[in-house]
Amino acid sequence: MPFDSPAEPRNPRFNPPRIGACVARGLHRVCPACGEGSLFTGFLKVRPVCPVCGNENGAYPSDDFAPYVTIFLILHLMTPILIGADALWSPPFWLEGLIALPLFTAATIGLLPFAKGGVIGFAYALGVRRRTAAQDG
Ligand SMILES: [Zn+2]
Repeated sequence: MPFDSPAEPRNPRFNPPRIGACVARGLHRVCPACGEGSLFTGFLKVRPVCPVCGNENGAYPSDDFAPYVTIFLILHLMTPILIGADALWSPPFWLEGLIALPLFTAATIGLLPFAKGGVIGFAYALGVRRRTAAQDG
């Protein structure tokens, strides 16, 4: 099982903000705990520890869920555009592909870091952390 609840009993002082606030902070690419420190060191690389509050942001997994969220959103946003364009102008298939494929690719790459931040904020709010080697025995 790749994810687990915290191995130790939950810290009674652990009182994260509401899920919506944590996800919103992640979507803004800032630390879900304090909302001030930068969540990423690069385009998709998570800063392991928040420079402002010291929260271990690297412990919260996003793994494959962020790309799933991104693909889900892009397909639901772009499909009506494609269908609408097809219905209105009936462009040739090659022209539609020539325009749509780079547009889909750019939109997917552009949305991915925000989705990853939102997923990390969601994991933080729920207390979902990566298992460490020490927890495996
Ligand atoms: Zn922080």
